Amino acid sequence: MEICTVGGYEEVGKNMTAVKSGEEVYLFDCGFYLPGIIELQEMPEIGYTLNGLRRVGGVPDDRILDELGWRDKVKAIFLSHAHLDHVGGLPYLAHRYPKAEIIASPFTMAVLESILKDEKINLRNRRRVVHENTTHQIKGSSGNLKVEFINTTHSTIQCLFVAWHSKDGVFFYGLDFKFDNHPIMGLPPNYKRLKELGNAGVKCLVVDALYADTDRRTASERIARNLLEDALRNIHDKDSALFLTTFSSHIARLKSVVEFGQKTNRKIVFLGRSLNKYVGAAIKVSQCSFRGKIELIKYRRQINSFLKKVEENRGKYFIVCTGHQGEKGSILDRIVKEETPFKFRRGDNLIFSSSVIPAPVNINSREKLDGKLRKQGVRLQTDIHVSGHGGREDLRDLLEMLKPQHIIPAHGSLKQEAPLIELAGEMGYKFQENSHLSSDGKVIKI
Ligand SMILES: [Zn+2]
Repeated sequence: MEICTVGGYEEVGKNMTAVKSGEEVYLFDCGFYLPGIIELQEMPEIGYTLNGLRRVGGVPDDRILDELGWRDKVKAIFLSHAHLDHVGGLPYLAHRYPKAEIIASPFTMAVLESILKDEKINLRNRRRVVHENTTHQIKGSSGNLKVEFINTTHSTIQCLFVAWHSKDGVFFYGLDFKFDNHPIMGLPPNYKRLKELGNAGVKCLVVDALYADTDRRTASERIARNLLEDALRNIHDKDSALFLTTFSSHIARLKSVVEFGQKTNRKIVFLGRSLNKYVGAAIKVSQCSFRGKIELIKYRRQINSFLKKVEENRGKYFIVCTGHQGEKGSILDRIVKEETPFKFRRGDNLIFSSSVIPAPVNINSREKLDGKLRKQGVRLQTDIHVSGHGGREDLRDLLEMLKPQHIIPAHGSLKQEAPLIELAGEMGYKFQENSHLSSDGKVIKI
């Protein structure tokens, strides 16, 4: 078995892994690198094309697969979940693998289709929608091969672990996850199947090492739900504005937001393109129980005329909007820059149901945003949030259940990956023998 760690092994983003066994190659995820995308948005002269994306390093550099002679052998592309750092690159790269089938859960596929529609990209690859805890056959060069999709929990819905039963043994793709025994939507992780696979033998595990250095089991989404309930219960001023911002892809979080939001007796309105994209996808696959309880507004003109109404009647609405990372052009960014008919006043409320993504670009923009909000007298509640990535103890559990022969940490640079190598060392693995540090574009043979 050969594993090419295409992207996401030197940075947090553009995740992509290629695995070859016999004459079959499978791809796992194909995401965006956000700082690259932001750079590109600020340089419109480069153009939002594959060449432009490659220039700023916004997508995985999959040209390594041409060099290896693997590109024509790719039979399938698996998407683990709907986050852009796992699916955002695929619209621009999938045409390079015309024979490969794209395989994802209903929600992930709906998000991909929505991106394709927005960007007016037409992909000819076949698509296959798979459900959690099912096994599928994929046609290979020499017969069918079994691939299994195992339910896991993270910070968006319908996340899958993928186990490929290759001729060389089981390859297990374990990105992204935390072990949440009380998810707000969907099932708890399928521990039983993980243990069974471990007992039968797993050849190689590629795993989400983002928080391998953090001594914890990441808290359940149920905790975030409690934090939200308190945050919203303590808004007493009936005449001030109430805004909340969170990850648009976090459908379970949005569900809690709406449930407690209803108790404020305000009308709940979702503003912004990315909220529309993800909530629209959830509606499409019948995963949006709060659909009838909210209004969704997507386009700038309608948003502006709605914000005028909020300005005049600020106690009437509860607004959920984009901009928790201080992103340029987001609703919050435009409001604080006074580009909309609504302006924050002293005593208005804003809840950040998010954490700052620990990248310099996000840290800087949030500092600027928070500074302006404070100046405008807004009452802030930040970090009403729990992470979707497991800590060291979640990872230890996964390793104990799967007992993989080989481990490759992913989802970050040395800073994230080295602590997982150290954890593997504690558990008896030997560095460079059966625990491997990789970098983008490298091949590991096991
Ligand atoms: Zn994710």
